[in-house]
Amino acid sequence: MTEHIYAHEHPESERRREGGFTLWFTGLSGAGKTTIAHLVGPELDRRGLVVEYLDGDTVRTRLSKGLGFSKEDRDTNIERIGWVASRLTRQGGAVIAAAISPYEETRQKARAMVEEWGAFVEVYIAASVEECARRDVKGLYEKAFRGEIKGFTGVDDPYEPPIDPELVLDTEAHEPEESAQLVVAKLEELGLVRSAVNA
Ligand code: ADP
Repeated sequence: MTEHIYAHEHPESERRREGGFTLWFTGLSGAGKTTIAHLVGPELDRRGLVVEYLDGDTVRTRLSKGLGFSKEDRDTNIERIGWVASRLTRQGGAVIAAAISPYEETRQKARAMVEEWGAFVEVYIAASVEECARRDVKGLYEKAFRGEIKGFTGVDDPYEPPIDPELVLDTEAHEPEESAQLVVAKLEELGLVRSAVNA
């Protein structure tokens, strides 16, 4: 792949491969982050990119095992994901991070880490609390409303919507497949992936 050439402006120890980027999906639990991530990933794979997923639920069983949901632990989790995303971006990867990431300031930290090595594309996967609770795929909203889970994002814990995301996807207006197409179109517009005709 011609775009995956080591850049020359960096000293040997800081070399990077060109073309890396991180798609950062943020939004409430059940908004559709994981669903859309797994529709976008194969599209990028088809275009020859090396795709890696950093899904909040998975990371919490591995890299962030033992962390809870206090603000401090949430921030630690997001900073870890941001750091790993930055390393993979450096290697020319197409990273799809999908974690609630409720705090603007912490998302900005992740952005700063990634942007040292490539593009950071923040995608707000938007759905109202009411809609997420109606979907309630994991049964967590019911528990949160009953008070069986405390500090649940959107119920009794904050969610700060992105101030200036690269893309907003209203998942109450678009089916998952449409949302995935909008993500790929944005990546094409940003010059991060080639359009399908040339892929
Ligand atoms: P998150 O990763 O944001 O917690 P998930 O992707 O795990 O969310 O769950 C979202 C659920 O909502 C899935 O079961 C998905 O099929 C469903 N869903 C229903 N409508 C939509 C939509 N328009 N966009 C995305 N997901 C949707």
